[in-house]
Amino acid sequence: MLPFAIKKLLFYAFKKGMMKMFGCIFCQIAAHEKPAKIFYEDDHCMVIQDTNPQAPVHLLVIPRKHIVSLNDDLEKDKELLGHLMTVVHRMAKEQGIDGTGYRTLINTNAEAGQTVFHLHIHVLGGRIFRWPPG
Ligand code: AMP
Ligand code: ZN
Repeated sequence: MLPFAIKKLLFYAFKKGMMKMFGCIFCQIAAHEKPAKIFYEDDHCMVIQDTNPQAPVHLLVIPRKHIVSLNDDLEKDKELLGHLMTVVHRMAKEQGIDGTGYRTLINTNAEAGQTVFHLHIHVLGGRIFRWPPG
């Protein structure tokens, strides 16, 4: 059994969004501790180039706050989530894909293909996408 004080410390480290301590790549990028091609940033989010692009345009809209996935309790983050959507549109417009079309995508957990456990919205465009997705 872990001593109570250590349990409490671990709990607070987690709750305070200190995942970057444990190596969350998107927290590190958001803190400018790791490099990325940044397309946009503000107090609440940033937009970077995906390092393994699946389309001519493949950006990631990432909240600065460490949110693991849509499975988190997001009741307090509704405004942030809405803001991310406006940034998606802004980026699509800037990239010139708003008119032709673009795909936005959030993977949640392993079977959907989530590999980075810090919420992010994929913005893909510049080619034709099929439906249903693979
Ligand atoms: P997902 O599989 O939905 O969790 O998406 C994670 C995405 O992050 C993948 O498309 C990766 O190519 C991308 N990715 C992983 N590490 C980095 C990084 N350091 N910079 C930019 N994109 C990354
Ligand atoms: Zn993170």
